[in-house]
Amino acid sequence: MKLIAKKSLGQNFLIDKNILEKIVNLTSIKNQTIIEIGPGTGNLTNFILKNKPKKFIAIEKDKNLALNLKKNFKDKLEIINEDILKIDEKLLSKDKVIVFGNLPYNISTEILCKWILNLDNKDFWFHSLILMFQKEVADRIISKFNSSKYGRLTILVNWKFNVKKVTDIKPNSFSPRPKIDSTLLFFSPKKDFFKIKNPSNLEKITRIFFNHRRKMIKKPFNYLFNGNSKIIEKLNLDMNLRPQNLDFETYYKLTHEFENLRD
Ligand code: SAH
Repeated sequence: MKLIAKKSLGQNFLIDKNILEKIVNLTSIKNQTIIEIGPGTGNLTNFILKNKPKKFIAIEKDKNLALNLKKNFKDKLEIINEDILKIDEKLLSKDKVIVFGNLPYNISTEILCKWILNLDNKDFWFHSLILMFQKEVADRIISKFNSSKYGRLTILVNWKFNVKKVTDIKPNSFSPRPKIDSTLLFFSPKKDFFKIKNPSNLEKITRIFFNHRRKMIKKPFNYLFNGNSKIIEKLNLDMNLRPQNLDFETYYKLTHEFENLRD
């Protein structure tokens, strides 16, 4: 079967052996349950298998690629020919898993946000997530406050995850080559994270604050909290700051106060 890379499914296959080796050495795979999303032609799959996982589930949306994987890997893999966005991740495995994914960039972000929002307190179904992003998005995820890249995605991701940058990856490590640079990120669950009743409140607060990135926080604060001076005092807020000058914790605390006011 001749396999032609489909642009619509973001098919850029990783062919750089050094990078593939680096990815599988990030964590101990032996006797673990692994989920690979978007295995494609099976480049990373091969490297993962060499490290002897206990169980290996692969989720590939492309029917031809899924058939090809079945033919090549037989019973070494459990292949699910589905769209990862439509799968209930918690039903995949009873064991905690390690997730690897070199997915289309937009799907990496969407799936990451979905998984964060679906996580019940402390109920992590994985040990770690190892995911590829376009560099520009990865830079936003790992940025710190006071940076122009700091924003909604940074605050959401850092709420529940410790994030480490593994490496930037140049277009020539893929075939066909993407137009932009990529970055691989490693996510592990935070043991403790700020209690928020409804994550959509965190999304709402950050959306309203970052709506006008260059303006002072006075306006969004007044809009959301009606100028509540007790909260200003409690969180030691300076109304002349810009949204990017508030650290993660402040946004989590603001969300907490927002939820308290509505009880
Ligand atoms: N991981 C492989 C392939 C990367 S290309 C490698 O590094 O070589 C991206 C892969 O994700 C393709 O195989 C594509 O078919 C698959 N894919 C795209 N959207 C998907 C989705 N929504 N769910 C599952 N797989 C998807």
